[in-house]
Amino acid sequence: METFLQRIAQFGDLEQNVSLKSLTTFKVGGIASYVIYPNDNFALQAIIDICKDSNMPYKVFGHGSNMLCSDKQYDGVIIKLNRKLNQVYFDGTEIVVQAGYSIVSLSYECMKRSLSGLEFASGIPGTIGGCIFMNAGAYKKSMGDITKEVQVLKDGSVVWLSNEECEFEYRSSIFQKHPDWIILAAKIQLEPGEKDEIQAIMRERQQRRFDTQPLDYPSAGSVFRNLDGYFAWQLIDKIGYRGTCYGDACVSPKHSNFIINNGNAKAEDIVKLIDDIQAKIKREFDLDMILEVEKFNW
Ligand SMILES: Cc1cc2nc3c(=O)[nH]c(=O)nc-3n(C[C@H](O)[C@H](O)[C@H](O)COP(=O)(O)OP(=O)(O)OC[C@H]3O[C@@H](n4cnc5c(N)ncnc54)[C@H](O)[C@@H]3O)c2cc1C
Repeated sequence: METFLQRIAQFGDLEQNVSLKSLTTFKVGGIASYVIYPNDNFALQAIIDICKDSNMPYKVFGHGSNMLCSDKQYDGVIIKLNRKLNQVYFDGTEIVVQAGYSIVSLSYECMKRSLSGLEFASGIPGTIGGCIFMNAGAYKKSMGDITKEVQVLKDGSVVWLSNEECEFEYRSSIFQKHPDWIILAAKIQLEPGEKDEIQAIMRERQQRRFDTQPLDYPSAGSVFRNLDGYFAWQLIDKIGYRGTCYGDACVSPKHSNFIINNGNAKAEDIVKLIDDIQAKIKREFDLDMILEVEKFNW
């Protein structure tokens, strides 16, 4: 009888006892028992079937740029699509791209081809899959504005969902209601543009990010969603938390909706900061702050 490991190992590159610090931009988290990079869609499906068959928990990760993993061991399988499920095809103004492709790389490839529409994404350090899941966005544009269809592995079948069926809203999509669905690919619709203009917009936005965000420290980007009529950073400033540190977890002095890892931050300290900020804003303004980063393995 083949063991669980022997069964899944044939379907991708398998690694054991991998620190979640190395799989997330926050650089926090315990050890994941297994990480696998599936060879192709067929292998991905097989890995999931084997995990279910063996009662082994699993979780798909993109670049881990929105993840806050606990300090505990994760006795399950992290499935990463960015190594092998990362093909892209250009057909005029339409792009078909697999979920593991980097959105930063895609925005640069589009700029080189004079395709406009992805300028907003050139500083978002995620994969296509993660960005669709989150409906990632910036500068009043988001994935939902450019995504025509999404290919999904759902209930054992591969289907295409239309833009409307993806239910894109501010930092939200139907995929958050169905964590067992896996995004395989997307069709993205762009427009013809002027390469120099696209490049100038991307440079200007990159500079704005460097000027306003603590990009020289590990983080997961914005910690809280903005609320109707309130920027999260303004509320955090109002309760005086800019620069507050618990251990090596600090509210960034540069952008108070970022929590940064000053070196050896513990996930526990980050969560304490989050809890205290939520409690204080609730007490002082009767507002419920909603987490944008995702807690995993708590
Ligand atoms: C410095 C910095 C700046 C950032 N700026 C922005 C910004 O401007 N705008 C913004 O919206 N976000 C921003 N983010 C947050 C983050 O980059 C986005 O949320 C991004 O969409 C996450 O993509 P990912 O591939 O890293 O997903 P991960 O963090 O790996 O995963 C996020 C969620 O998506 C799910 N997921 C990933 N891939 C798939 C798939 N193929 N199928 C199904 N589910 C999947 C995961 O299971 C998880 O639940 C920033 C983060 C950092 C660190």
